[in-house]
Amino acid sequence: MALIITDECINCDVCEPECPNEAIYLGPEIYEIDPHKCTECVGHFDEPQCVQVCPVACIPVNPQHVEDQPTLWQKYQRLQAAAGKAPSSAPSDLPPA
Ligand code: SF4
Ligand code: SF4
Repeated sequence: MALIITDECINCDVCEPECPNEAIYLGPEIYEIDPHKCTECVGHFDEPQCVQVCPVACIPVNPQHVEDQPTLWQKYQRLQAAAGKAPSSAPSDLPPA
């Protein structure tokens, strides 16, 4: 699942730089998460980094974006490829030297 930031967000700015996928951005009123970029930190960390640092615990799972672990892993690999980075578990995807 992607995560979502609720209106309890106090705009403290702590989570945005912690996201390895650059999925967090400042919206019109509060910080928001792009569900197409959030992998729940799968591929990068064992725990969602934004949840770890949020002082008001306002980042639950997004019920509109329910995804299992394999799907999150595939999203991670797509994001890495789009960023020109090789996914950590797919050395065969590396471009020729
Ligand atoms: S769970 Fe990870 S990938 Fe998703 S928004 Fe939080 S820090 Fe970014
Ligand atoms: S860490 Fe929590 S309160 Fe701070 S900006 Fe992120 S979601 Fe909002």
